[in-house]
Amino acid sequence: MPSKLSRVALFGGTFDPPHRGHVAIARAAADRFALDTVLFAPAGRQPLKPEGCSTDYAERLEMTRLVCAEDARFAVSELDAPRKDGQPNYTVRTLEMLAEEMPGAAIFSIAGADSFRSLGHWREPQRLLELADWIVISRPGFLLAEPDGLALTPEQRARVHLLDAVHEDVSATGLRTRLAHGESCDELLTPSVAAFIAEHGLYRS
Ligand code: ATP
Repeated sequence: MPSKLSRVALFGGTFDPPHRGHVAIARAAADRFALDTVLFAPAGRQPLKPEGCSTDYAERLEMTRLVCAEDARFAVSELDAPRKDGQPNYTVRTLEMLAEEMPGAAIFSIAGADSFRSLGHWREPQRLLELADWIVISRPGFLLAEPDGLALTPEQRARVHLLDAVHEDVSATGLRTRLAHGESCDELLTPSVAAFIAEHGLYRS
């Protein structure tokens, strides 16, 4: 774990699979905000994705581990591992756990513009805005905007940082569709993840 006064960002997602867009996002955020660590935390059960994932948590964790080898500032985190009580993983709890684990650290949370727009529907949005500085990444097709239905105070707005530096038009949904049709997506994946998907026969229809 990084030292006490470090700058650390939680990067939550389903990572089903992790792709080059994720790598570009984490790099741009780490560069711009001088982050020591970006913690990629695959979600066990995402409350806003009731349809679930195409792969199991262990596979997503392993693919995320492979992606984290791309940059010395990246680390994989099991903070969002499936809960023993079967409850969904809420980001508010994950950020609280991170703050407990790293007292004194500057804590950031990274989200794409699409995810951040929905923040008002997440559990305890006000607390979420207190627990971390938010790095919101531009995403093709989505405006960098305030969360739907939430009026941010000037203090909250000062802790939301828009990062219009990533223009990778890649989504895991699009990747899964292409992979199910037997198309190669190697240009959108790291070689390590592409090899893992091929070896384990993932996402085939
Ligand atoms: P899916 O298509 O399955 O919803 P995804 O590609 O959006 O997946 P997630 O694992 O849900 O990937 O993404 C984790 C985070 O990364 C989310 O906050 C999402 O908004 C963001 N993200 C993913 N791809 C991009 C992209 N191309 N540009 C900006 N943000 C992105």
